Amino acid sequence: MSTKKRSLLKVLVLGDSGVGKTCLIRQFAQHKFSTQYKATIGADFLTKEFILDDRQVTMQIWDTAGLERFQSLGVAFYRGADACVLVYDVTVPKSFYNLEGWKDEFLFQGAPQDPEHFPFLVIGNKTDLEDSRAVSTKKAEGWCRSNGSMTHFETSAKDNTNVEQAFFDVARTAISREIVEDDEIQHAVDIHTDVEPDKIRCCG
Ligand code: GDP
Ligand code: MG
Repeated sequence: MSTKKRSLLKVLVLGDSGVGKTCLIRQFAQHKFSTQYKATIGADFLTKEFILDDRQVTMQIWDTAGLERFQSLGVAFYRGADACVLVYDVTVPKSFYNLEGWKDEFLFQGAPQDPEHFPFLVIGNKTDLEDSRAVSTKKAEGWCRSNGSMTHFETSAKDNTNVEQAFFDVARTAISREIVEDDEIQHAVDIHTDVEPDKIRCCG
């Protein structure tokens, strides 16, 4: 039996329609790129398994499946998310400005505990279209810094540039939080077992 540590992570990928969310997920999970994915990937999530720092990671990556309107995704989509990837297109300024709305929507719908420290990753996609770039790296990094030090990556799902790095980074951040939470739970249980059984009473 393997003694490897295991982590199951639920990662949401949010952002405007057309920024390349489905392509990023497909590139990371299946090493494929197509210019013609339908609006939906036909399922709510794809699963990718990998080893990271001696840990067996199963990442459920949830795509918006063509429902890129605020408030259209439903509770099941947001429930139990361990991390959230916010994607914009480096050639479309509006997709960058809309990140604020996506972030707020996630915090509202997902209502994570400790929202100030929730792991968000911001991805500027389509760096292969450098000639049409309309959102500078500096500007994006500034926004990420002033929004709780979010990590920022620039990727090309088409060229497979930085895609794996970005998803591994989000996995690392989520896992480090998971370990802290496990420690807290362990601690809580220890305190509980310190109480002698006959002193635990209910309803007098
Ligand atoms: P989604 O609506 O956010 O899921 O976007 P898609 O993944 O469906 O991609 C929208 C369009 O952008 C498609 O035509 C893709 O082929 C194209 N696309 C996605 N990623 C890239 C990229 O990195 N570079 C370029 N040049 N096009 C991309
Ligand atoms: Mg899509």
